[in-house]
Amino acid sequence: MLNIILMGPPGAGKGTQAVTIADEFKIPHISTGDMFREAIANGTPVGLKAKAIIDAGGLVPDEVVCELVKERLSQKDCEHGYLLDGFPRTIPQAEALAEMGPSIGRPVSLVLNISVPSEVLLDRIAGRRVCPKCGASYHIRNMKPKVEGVCDRCGSKLIQRKDDNPESFKVRLENYFQSTEPLLAFYEKSGLLHSFDGNGNPKALHDAIASLLEANK
Ligand code: ADP
Ligand code: ZN
Repeated sequence: MLNIILMGPPGAGKGTQAVTIADEFKIPHISTGDMFREAIANGTPVGLKAKAIIDAGGLVPDEVVCELVKERLSQKDCEHGYLLDGFPRTIPQAEALAEMGPSIGRPVSLVLNISVPSEVLLDRIAGRRVCPKCGASYHIRNMKPKVEGVCDRCGSKLIQRKDDNPESFKVRLENYFQSTEPLLAFYEKSGLLHSFDGNGNPKALHDAIASLLEANK
């Protein structure tokens, strides 16, 4: 069963890996960041609540995120697996997931951690461009799209995220070390954690992740 959590600091390459892995293993890619950005674009109540927090690099309150994830994981397409990207990000969120997962018949089966030294993260974030439509990520030097400014997958115009600036990044990284990194010990204890080196080339990382998933399907 591929009920997966993908973890790693901002800029680790979670989104990049998630998009291809989800395609390949035919499981939904559930990015809480993408869900919030969509809510913001649509002007929903959740979006209105989250916008200022997200732009500044802060964390959306646990109750809001947990509610959203529970609803999403309960949907039919998660029946045969899911890939959570960006959730859980705090201990209370992990506890909520440990409770809701089994209660809706979708317990977490694997936790993948992409580790990357902090020094390289800011450059990755500063050069990142994303597709607002399909969620694909690019980098202006390291991972260029075929046509500058255009998404390879869906042809949309790429944008720079509002929170991909040095000030918001600093807050996101601090939050990561303070609130999210402690989750690794939490999942290590439960025997679900697998760590990967995210400082090499994206294809090698993809292959390492894919072979683990093949073995655990
Ligand atoms: P990153 O590129 O830093 O991994 P994401 O796209 O996953 O960013 O998330 C963007 C922003 O959305 C976060 O900085 C945070 O404000 C908000 N967010 C996403 N997921 C969560 C979560 N699980 N808990 C709290 N806030 C979240
Ligand atoms: Zn796209």
